[in-house]
Amino acid sequence: MQGSVVRVTLSLIGPGIIGVFGIAFLAAWSYARRPYLGVLAAACALFALGASSQILYVPRDTGLNAMVSGALYTCAVIAAVEGVLIRSGKALGAWIDVAIFVAFSLALYYFFYVDRSLLARIYVQNFGYGLLLCVAGLRLSHLRNGRLVDRILFWTLLLFGLHFFPRTVFTVGVSPPSGGPLAFADSVFWQTLQLSLAVLGAALAMAILAAAVSDLMDDLRRERDLDHLTGLLNRRGFEAEIAAPMHRAPEGAALILCDVDHFKSINDSFGHDVGDVVLKEIGAILRRAARKGDLVGRLGGEEFAVFLPEASRSEATECAERLRRAIGQGRIPGLGHRPVTASFGVATLREAADWTALYKLADGRLYRAKAEGRDRTVDRGT
Ligand code: GH3
Ligand code: MG
Ligand code: MG
Repeated sequence: MQGSVVRVTLSLIGPGIIGVFGIAFLAAWSYARRPYLGVLAAACALFALGASSQILYVPRDTGLNAMVSGALYTCAVIAAVEGVLIRSGKALGAWIDVAIFVAFSLALYYFFYVDRSLLARIYVQNFGYGLLLCVAGLRLSHLRNGRLVDRILFWTLLLFGLHFFPRTVFTVGVSPPSGGPLAFADSVFWQTLQLSLAVLGAALAMAILAAAVSDLMDDLRRERDLDHLTGLLNRRGFEAEIAAPMHRAPEGAALILCDVDHFKSINDSFGHDVGDVVLKEIGAILRRAARKGDLVGRLGGEEFAVFLPEASRSEATECAERLRRAIGQGRIPGLGHRPVTASFGVATLREAADWTALYKLADGRLYRAKAEGRDRTVDRGT
């Protein structure tokens, strides 16, 4: 009796570990509010319930126990698979989930009540779950080339899925454990299963948690570096992003500064909301006009910047003129026929030693463009 209490307690350690990960997912979900974290919390809880039902032998009826624990395991695997897929926007969808659940349940029902075979049930569950995890891994093959956390997640998921096949074959072969629930709990198959689920399940949960933390840090970084109104880089983000290309192409880079003309009067005449629409529209024009590799930012108020990592003075001036014309021709909702114009200052790294000097030069030229009548580009002089 005592021995069996110890055995049952020990065998609950695996599900307990997964249950603890469930709590970690729940905590992460309550903080980050990403749906996939909630789905993964549910997956852990369902697995812990399924394993407990089997280990504690509740319900007592063997058939019912096989069906209930089987259903809980199936739901757990579906939730785990959907959880990692939702994170990458590649969910299978509710109908496929239901179809998978029904297929597993029917197979378990058939091999218990119609053509009773423990061997078949073991293979259906293990090969089926392994296959499902491998399919999820293959759907996420793009993660192979992603960040380190994504690569670890991909390989852990695939390894977890693949391990179901050899483990089952080597521990079960063609003869299932025999001799009732107690002997089953003592079988090599069951003990290896428990151990591998605890170890690989925990590894997968840790990989997902690491990826979730990394997602969260990306969110915070984006929040810190992006301007909410236009979606462009803010000054901090812009300065951080140009550091590398400035270092790589110190000679060929150019900076365009752009400041909306008489913006205060647009705000005064049409209201702050329309002013915001103007800023958004100008942000969109600049983004559309930017080439791949160019960086566009809103440095503050109604001042924008475009960094061209590879451009001569004449190319940068041409680009600024194109932007100026695009802004002048754009029709902004709420402004009627009132045109919006902007002034531009252009400077190249050839003329300046660093970012501070480059910015100062471009800003001085922008100031001259304003002084000379606005709606123009200045690319020379101090
Ligand atoms: P200039 O042609 O000389 O550039 O004149 P200006 O009116 O454009 O420049 P000024 O610096 O006098 O005014 C800029 C205005 O931009 C003042 C400020 O209220 C407004 N502004 C700054 N940020 C925002 C914003 O996020 N939304 C809106 N609607 N207005 C903003
Ligand atoms: Mg202005
Ligand atoms: Mg200004």
